[in-house]
Amino acid sequence: MSDIQASKQTLLDRRYLRMARIWAENSYCQRRQVGALVVKNKMIISDGYNGTPSGFENVCEDADGITYPYVLHAEANAITKLARSGNNSDGSTLYVTAAPCIECSKLIIQSGIKRVVYAEQYRLTDGTDLLEKAGVKVEYLNLENNESKEK
Ligand SMILES: [Zn+2]
Repeated sequence: MSDIQASKQTLLDRRYLRMARIWAENSYCQRRQVGALVVKNKMIISDGYNGTPSGFENVCEDADGITYPYVLHAEANAITKLARSGNNSDGSTLYVTAAPCIECSKLIIQSGIKRVVYAEQYRLTDGTDLLEKAGVKVEYLNLENNESKEK
């Protein structure tokens, strides 16, 4: 990739990641709002935010503020939405506002997503470690400044 191509890619990455952040505003979860977009050939083929499964009340936390175990993460929602669509995630890029957990990382690997760009580090790195082990390109982009670096 030339420098010009690389900087164009970074610009696009930042835009998609900002869109994922805006998409996260759809989440009705109180503790944390996460958004995800799946992009293939410059088309957004799926989207997701963390929330309860279809048909469940739009409440993510119990009275003590503990997240219900049946809440789906943004990545899982985006990937399962693809399963019901005519789109194919093979070779796509996932933009997600927070580093994927290990459960979502398994889904990411199996869905053929080849690249993950995320905005917020997570205290655990087992998810991103697993992705890298499976050959998925993982990139951290800090939206608060203009620097970007490989994870
Ligand atoms: Zn997850």
